[in-house]
Amino acid sequence: MAYRIVTLPGDGIGPEIMAPTLDLLSRLGEFDFEEHLFGGASIDAHGVALTDEVLDACRRSDAVLLAAVGGPKWDTTEAGRPRPEQGLLGLRKGLGLYANLRPVKPLEALYEASPLRRERIEGTDLLVVRELTGGIYFGEKTRTATSASDLCAYSSEEIERIARTAFTAARRKVSSVDKANVLETSRLWREVVSELHAREFADIELEHVLVDNAAMQLVSSPRDFDVILAENMFGDILSDEAAMLTGSIGMLPSASLGAADPATPGMFEPVHGSAPDIAGRGVANPLAMFLSAALMLRHGLGLASEAAAVESAVQDALDAGLRTADLGGDAGTAQAAQAVLDHL
Ligand code: NAD
Repeated sequence: MAYRIVTLPGDGIGPEIMAPTLDLLSRLGEFDFEEHLFGGASIDAHGVALTDEVLDACRRSDAVLLAAVGGPKWDTTEAGRPRPEQGLLGLRKGLGLYANLRPVKPLEALYEASPLRRERIEGTDLLVVRELTGGIYFGEKTRTATSASDLCAYSSEEIERIARTAFTAARRKVSSVDKANVLETSRLWREVVSELHAREFADIELEHVLVDNAAMQLVSSPRDFDVILAENMFGDILSDEAAMLTGSIGMLPSASLGAADPATPGMFEPVHGSAPDIAGRGVANPLAMFLSAALMLRHGLGLASEAAAVESAVQDALDAGLRTADLGGDAGTAQAAQAVLDHL
């Protein structure tokens, strides 16, 4: 039976990188692709970034593949005006996607593109597991003319389910990030993570790292990390820092996952945005989108060998010299896509 994939090309370079990705996927299996408007494109057509119909279609799918949303056309600070990013938050909330996974594995062919020296990043292969639906981003907010507050709250259930995702993904170690020397939520975080570790994952090494120390270690000895587990805001910041190890934002995929039982469709998307500055010119790097499709194959559909085939085709194409403009070369989107297909 064909897998049902909802595709959301979105805005800017989104449609340009989605098209070759569907072409790539169709060579690996049977998929029913159902495309919908999302983000700015949906605001133009329907006045909102995510319609109920699209959310329903996502709920009924096996997985959601998203490119990128946003652009100057929809930039607004006016309260009440729709914004493309509301679509992303709506999907996360609507699908209950509480776990964000961002693998960071600098490829040898791109070591020189990283701002860090080769000997620092060599051998780095880490995964940031970020809690996505709790913490300070979602807590109660207050505001007067001269003061403001954002509440950071977590329940043991929220901490345990994300910690379980991290331990399950780990091969050797989980580095749990917190600020337990000052934050009460961090002290609960540490307690719950330690208990779950002792109860179910004692074969995996667990270390607790204060967030400031984690930020430092990410650039001084990134290869020491296996899985980094963090609450929403710490994970947001650390995953962008980790992203820079690879040299280009055009290379990074991400997965957002919900509960396994009952099964929730996951959402898979590149880390980068809609790149309005290069949209429409056929020069966008499609590799982060390809690698997001690989995450969908592995984590969303359980097709591990197909996922590995995409990842090694990307790696082989880069080894053979493929470079898009963001990597200092002159290959366009179509050429890059063809180079990967040639190695698939
Ligand atoms: P961006 O990631 O779109 O672009 C940052 C820089 O990286 C730009 O110079 C861009 O040309 C380049 N870049 C990004 N992806 C690339 C690719 N695949 N190939 C080659 N170069 C690439 O971030 P931004 O400029 O801060 O934001 C642009 C728009 O995207 C904004 O409207 C923002 O809100 C939105 N955005 C969306 C998402 C998302 O959809 N998840 C994420 C971040 C930003």
